[in-house]
Amino acid sequence: MRAMPSPRFTSILAALAVAAGLGGCARETAPPPREFEASKAFEYLRTQVGFGTRIPSTPPHERMAAWLDSLLRVRADTLIVQSWTHVTAAGDSLRLRNFVARFNPRATTRILFLAHWDTRPRSDGPNSKNPKAPVPGANDGASGVAVLLGVADALKRQPPAIGVDLLFDDGEDYGDFNEHPTDVLIGARYYAGHQPPGPTPKYAVLFDLVADKDLQIYQEGNSLTGAPEVVELVWSTARKLGKQGVFIPSPKHTLTDDHVELQKAGIKAIDVVDFDYPAWHTPDDTIDKVSAASLQVVGDVALALIRQEKP
Ligand SMILES: [Zn+2]
Repeated sequence: MRAMPSPRFTSILAALAVAAGLGGCARETAPPPREFEASKAFEYLRTQVGFGTRIPSTPPHERMAAWLDSLLRVRADTLIVQSWTHVTAAGDSLRLRNFVARFNPRATTRILFLAHWDTRPRSDGPNSKNPKAPVPGANDGASGVAVLLGVADALKRQPPAIGVDLLFDDGEDYGDFNEHPTDVLIGARYYAGHQPPGPTPKYAVLFDLVADKDLQIYQEGNSLTGAPEVVELVWSTARKLGKQGVFIPSPKHTLTDDHVELQKAGIKAIDVVDFDYPAWHTPDDTIDKVSAASLQVVGDVALALIRQEKP
């Protein structure tokens, strides 16, 4: 299965055919540029992993924050940095930051994409052999950020007709989801209570665990309950791109993730997530488990969502 070639791609093919027919000079020709540059997005993923584990209030987390800030500042029209201290159930103070990169900030029709940029301090997933080790977060953390940064690059090159906000939220994965629910989804909850000025986004899409080499994205339960029309929009957009082999139009897991905090604040938010990932919350969530090809599929769908919206 492959996507229909774009008109631009078709015209390049036609030009090549003409050139070949006329002179037969078969020069090496670079493939046509795609709006979402997966190789660059994969470099963004690699850079994040290279910082080390991005656990709040550690030096790699600080380095990652500075890097995100510097990248977003030269790509977005407006960058809002939300900075606060979160005191955990155990009494630790965490210095957390959300980055909100706004494109076309005055537009009244807006959509929101989000991903968490922190990584989990412990590997307490079902397949983990070392629960005390931190999660490297090649997929859980770095993949969603890589997609959003690839989208930011594309929006810098060609500004959107609508308003787009990219939220890089902090403290998603810090604590115990069952025992201390205030120590997880921290950044999304903070954002929900401190939304930037302007209209509520028409809808929001969370990207989490989106770079698995074996990418299969089923529809998530809380998304189907809280914003079924957004699920339909995203999966039908993927189908139009020929990506129904990755965006599988049936429900599977139900997850507590950042989208739930946004839903509580009245935002139509869904989770695009491949939860069939054996390395989830283990020390094996490493770069060999993820691929640029998977980022390409998700990035293409994300940009199609933006480009198809009318102001
Ligand atoms: Zn996680």
